[in-house]
Amino acid sequence: MNISHIEHIGIAVKDLNQAIPYYENILGLKCYNIEEVADQKVKTAFFKVGQTKIELLEPTSEESTIAKFIANKGEGVHHIAFNVDNVANTLTEVEEKGVRLIDKAPRKGAENLMIGFLHPKSTCSVLTELCQQPEK
Ligand code: ZN
Repeated sequence: MNISHIEHIGIAVKDLNQAIPYYENILGLKCYNIEEVADQKVKTAFFKVGQTKIELLEPTSEESTIAKFIANKGEGVHHIAFNVDNVANTLTEVEEKGVRLIDKAPRKGAENLMIGFLHPKSTCSVLTELCQQPEK
């Protein structure tokens, strides 16, 4: 695995409209993108902190894994996402090392990234996402 940097930190929130003002007015960050990912039943808001992003995740359905996370644990840090060259190869590589995968193959996430999640049972309980930048 070749991690270049932390791509983003995913944070579960109940309501983007309540969370965004904290990041903008208190932390002084700028929300540069709001995007709905229908696939994952979430609405996301992004802020840049150096080359790392903060990704706020608001559930758009009770069925969303984010809704279930908030119901169980409350709002807070949901996952950490590492940037790698190639998500498909990295998923194969870690599976061979015995890591349990949530995604057997890469899928499309917010911001056109290719993403894949590793299961928290194999990652010291931290939900871990691998991200690959879109081709330029
Ligand atoms: Zn993410």
